[in-house]
Amino acid sequence: MLRIKNLAVKLEEEDKQILRGVDLTIGAGEVHAIMGPNGSGKSTLSYVLAGREGYEVTEGSATLEGEELLEMEPEERAAAGLFLAFQYPVEIPGVGNMTFLRTAVNAQRKARGEEEMSAGEFLKVVREKAKKLKIDADMLKRPVNVGFSGGEKKRNEILQMAMLEPKMCILDETDSGLDVDAMKLVSDGVNALRDEGRAFLVITHYQRLLDHIKPDVVHIMAAGRIVKTGGPELALEVEHNGYADILAEVQ
Ligand code: ADP
Ligand code: MG
Ligand code: MG
Repeated sequence: MLRIKNLAVKLEEEDKQILRGVDLTIGAGEVHAIMGPNGSGKSTLSYVLAGREGYEVTEGSATLEGEELLEMEPEERAAAGLFLAFQYPVEIPGVGNMTFLRTAVNAQRKARGEEEMSAGEFLKVVREKAKKLKIDADMLKRPVNVGFSGGEKKRNEILQMAMLEPKMCILDETDSGLDVDAMKLVSDGVNALRDEGRAFLVITHYQRLLDHIKPDVVHIMAAGRIVKTGGPELALEVEHNGYADILAEVQ
C-alpha cells in the first residue's frame, strides 16, 4: 500500500535536515504504529506525505499503490486515497461541518470517477457514522472545528475519515489530549474501518492507544530515521523502559 524508501527531508527555510533516510513499507490490511521521542520527525513524515509546504525532499520516494505521492498535489494525494488526521486539526470558520464533509466526499468520488452521493443518502450516512462517534447534530451544523473541544476535533477527524473511506490512513497523535472515553470512541471508529483493502499508520506517544488499536508492526523513530521495528511488544517495552535502552542499542 505505502512504500517509503530512503526518504530524506530538510526544511526549506533553514538548512536543517529532519528526515535522514526513512524506510517503511506498509501492506494492505496492516496497522503500523510509529513511536519515538519528541522531535524525532514523526509529524514531519506525515506532513511530507500529505504534501504540506515548507519541506524539501532531498532524497527518496514514497509511493501509494505504486504511484509516486511526492510528485502529486495535496488534493491529488487525497484523491489517490491518502488521509491524514493531524495532531492539531484546523478550524475553518464560515464553513459548516456538514457542507465541508459533503464537498470532500463528492470531490473524492469525482476524482475516482464515481457518482456523487445524493443529499438524502449523504445525510443518512453522515448521521449514522456521527452517532457512532457520539457527534451530535449540532456539531454537524457548526463551522468545521470552530469552538470544538480537543476531543470533539479528534472525533470529527475520524468522522471525516469514515466518510472519505481512504486507503491509507495516517493518524498523528490522534490520542493526545483525549480522555479515556474519547480515546475509546476514536479507537472504535478506527477499528470499524479496519479492512483488508486499507492500511493505517498510527503515530503515538502512548502504548495505551495501542491497547485499543492493535498494531501488527511497531516502529521506533529517532533523529529522523526508523531505528527499530518489532511487534506490539516493542510498544510495551517503550512504555516500561522509555527510549533510552533502544537508542543505546542502535547507536
Ligand atoms: P515529532 O513529531 O517526532 O515530535 P517533528 O516532526 O514535529 O517531530 O519535528 C522534528 C524536528 O524538526 C524537531 O527538531 C522540530 O523542532 C523540527 N521542525 C519541524 N518543523 C519545523 C519548522 N517548521 N521550523 C523549525 N523546526 C522544525
Ligand atoms: Mg511532537
Ligand atoms: Mg509530532
